[in-house]
Amino acid sequence: MTAFRLDAEVQFLKGVGPRRAEQLARLGITTVKDLLFHFPVRYEDRRNIRPIASLSEGETFTIRGVIHETNEKRLRFGKSLFQMGIRDATGILRCVWFNVRSDYLKKKYSVGQQVVATGRVHLGKTERSFEMPHPDIVVVDEGEDEVTGGILPVYPLTEGINQGTMRKVVAAALAAAPPVPENLPPLLLERLHLPPRHEAVIGIHRPDPGTPPEKLATCRTTAHKRMIFEELFLIECAMAILRSRNTERVRGVTIPATDGQSASVTARLPFELTPDQQAVLGEILDDLRGEHPMNRLVQGDVGCGKTVVAAVTLTLAAMNGFQGVLMAPTEILAEQHFSNLTKAKNVFPLRVELLTSGTKKKDDIRARAAEGEIDLLIGTHALIQQSVAFKNLGVAVIDEQHRFGVMQRAELMKKGDRPNTLIMTATPIPRTLAMTLYGDLDVSTIRTMPKGRQAIETKIIRLAEKAKAYLLINNEVKKGRQAYIIYPLVEESEKSELKAATVMWKVFQEQVFPHLRVGLVHGRMKQEEKNEVMHRFMRREVDVLVSTTVIEVGIDQPNATVMMIEHAERFGLAQLHQLRGRVGRGADKSSCLLAIEYPLSAVAKERLKVMTETGDGFVIAEKDMELRGTGDLLGTRQSGLPSLRMANLVRDFEILKFARNEAFELVRSDPELQKPEHRGLRAEMQRDWRERFQLVDVG
Ligand code: ADP
Ligand code: MG
Repeated sequence: MTAFRLDAEVQFLKGVGPRRAEQLARLGITTVKDLLFHFPVRYEDRRNIRPIASLSEGETFTIRGVIHETNEKRLRFGKSLFQMGIRDATGILRCVWFNVRSDYLKKKYSVGQQVVATGRVHLGKTERSFEMPHPDIVVVDEGEDEVTGGILPVYPLTEGINQGTMRKVVAAALAAAPPVPENLPPLLLERLHLPPRHEAVIGIHRPDPGTPPEKLATCRTTAHKRMIFEELFLIECAMAILRSRNTERVRGVTIPATDGQSASVTARLPFELTPDQQAVLGEILDDLRGEHPMNRLVQGDVGCGKTVVAAVTLTLAAMNGFQGVLMAPTEILAEQHFSNLTKAKNVFPLRVELLTSGTKKKDDIRARAAEGEIDLLIGTHALIQQSVAFKNLGVAVIDEQHRFGVMQRAELMKKGDRPNTLIMTATPIPRTLAMTLYGDLDVSTIRTMPKGRQAIETKIIRLAEKAKAYLLINNEVKKGRQAYIIYPLVEESEKSELKAATVMWKVFQEQVFPHLRVGLVHGRMKQEEKNEVMHRFMRREVDVLVSTTVIEVGIDQPNATVMMIEHAERFGLAQLHQLRGRVGRGADKSSCLLAIEYPLSAVAKERLKVMTETGDGFVIAEKDMELRGTGDLLGTRQSGLPSLRMANLVRDFEILKFARNEAFELVRSDPELQKPEHRGLRAEMQRDWRERFQLVDVG
């Protein structure tokens, strides 16, 4: 009975009407196909149901039976003790809930219902009687288990649709839908022993009753492996195509920089490059000399020496007659790059200009850039992308404080004459993310810090220890140092943020540090006002800078030696690490104080512990990903990485590596997916996939 097409609207399915359809739409489900791809997040495994008489103390069991009585004992403050007896053919189990508001339990469970209960078993009051405190209870729909063989899919839900309804609706879709067309090359599937797509979709909703429980729990059935592989393979195909189009199949600007030239520049530095810096510079040199444009990401913690490597690269370009551009995320950082490079003119003998909103002779600078009379132009992304032309641009350096989206990058690459592009990011990312987010780029990593860098002492401070923290800030300022205080603000509204920030600043200035100069930056200030405060901080006219968000700290002041982060428990791990990187940039010992307020969640505790244990951004990034799971990894969504349906980058790293190799090989053999056997793949990328990823136009 395949009267339905995959793109038919769900409301025409059995058991779904306009109202259900509306509810499903909230989950992004509008077609029959959407339902087929609404995958369970986990399974309820009822194959291991134990007779009540066989239970033993202290272990977790699942039992099944009928509710034969319920009762409640009223306690104080509207709380109750709620009890329920479940009977199977072998005995009775008492389920107990202590100190609950029992109304909702009474409503949910009634005598005569079939239920499955899972929980830890304790000895009851009488001989051989058992209790299960606070069990998980599932009310069983008649006949359900017969259909699923005891393995029940657990779906993401929305208000108005319960698990039983969702199971029925998905079952209706499975019954009515035609086979889902294959999108991967059959030969590939055969070689990898993966099932066809249609089979995999069914297998995920209705796992084979013989599936070992651990395979279900870890998503390692062949059906799961197939869908995980598919998802990652498609991403990697897009990456491979991007790479092929932007790098491998195009000619770029070739810059014949020699090792001798490179050595002559680095010899002028007041220090020796670290081995990691040297290795990265070597990779860059190879890229410059090659006929394809460089598309390289250099990642490493703040202060590891990325900018120095970029400056050497730009100098080499100039020595060979090419221009360079350096784009910074904020005007302040652009100014800092400009001032640092100007100061180091003997090392980097470049004709440098700065282009910001405040620049006086903008037209003059633009004209000279176009004439080739400027070696290096520094500015913000926005300014430079908008309005500048070059005579012979050889190298574009993009300084990223945070992650840069795949999409924005793709936009950028379309501009200009394919200069060699070097992206610097101070956000170390785990390898798996690098493969997906930056999968089309070459990635260079600087892991080690220059010698003599001191670790930042990181301490957790409780409310009662605040006074000590203030004292430390005071003492540092007395020594001529500066401090940051970071404050998370819940942005309820513009007005309330403004008010909270102002109040906070007042408290610090008037009560805590009346004798110091306290500055404030927050998200609701005008850009000029922010710049004004940050400039004052740079000129050391502000001792303590109170800042409400991360973005505002786009600033590099080596004289700052203390940072206090208020409500540190509210920040993500990567964010905390980024923030902490604002101190410890000079020769002096720096500290980071993580002020917390109870209660702390287990995850928050773990995050804070990691912060006190390590300063290595890569370790922190891995841990961050592990703690968050990849679904809601901070920043990935904004960065253009599609949310993953099935794959989990932590769990599925091996599959990812594998999918990546396969994808790159396939695209190498058929760069635009023109071969007949790749038709399905191409169609997939053109349709659904393009909507989701908005990444690659497969022509
Ligand atoms: P990043 O761009 O990664 O934040 P920078 O290139 O700005 O790092 O370097 C941070 C500081 O360390 C700068 O003052 C720079 O001069 C210094 N530095 C860079 N590389 C070395 C090195 N190999 N040895 C000593 N100091 C270095
Ligand atoms: Mg090149």
